[in-house]
Amino acid sequence: MNNLEKILNHNKAFVENKEYEQYLTDKFPNRKIVVVTCMDTRLVELLPKALNLKNGDAKIIKNAGAIITQPFGNIMRSVLVALYELKADEVFIIAHHGCGMTGIDPNTVVGHMLERGIAEQTIDTLRNSGVDLNRWLTGFDNLRESVEKSVNIVRNHPLLPPNTPVHGMAIHPDTGALDLIVDGYQHLK
Ligand SMILES: [Zn+2]
Repeated sequence: MNNLEKILNHNKAFVENKEYEQYLTDKFPNRKIVVVTCMDTRLVELLPKALNLKNGDAKIIKNAGAIITQPFGNIMRSVLVALYELKADEVFIIAHHGCGMTGIDPNTVVGHMLERGIAEQTIDTLRNSGVDLNRWLTGFDNLRESVEKSVNIVRNHPLLPPNTPVHGMAIHPDTGALDLIVDGYQHLK
């Protein structure tokens, strides 16, 4: 059975057995929280458990590294939609120790793309059209700095609702222990 079949088979039983009933809730986060975190596989169940977040409690936005680089990019848009349209009023950026984005080298990633069959010409064309692959594919060297940078982008965003706390943390991917990096309450005027 391939992954698609496994998922569809399980899904049929899940719905038939009404296993969804325990998860029923609405689209508004009960705890009024937006979490931006990493797509790391170790955090799938661990992070909500470690923060005591249940279905319906929080908006959880994920990407590689919990990094926010663009004030007008996709992640920031999701944060703003959660804050303006979905009744959230507090932001938590939660990166983690041992992240796959630590020390990612854009040249190595491009090398892997070439190995997997992407033509050198495609890379050149993108670079010539102004796509800065090096910037786009850069991870981070320092976890704390990366979290602080992301927190600053959100906190200084011209469209952030006034008095929105923006916290920064790092979670340990084995124990779920949280290190507080930025206490967003401290920065409220
Ligand atoms: Zn990660």
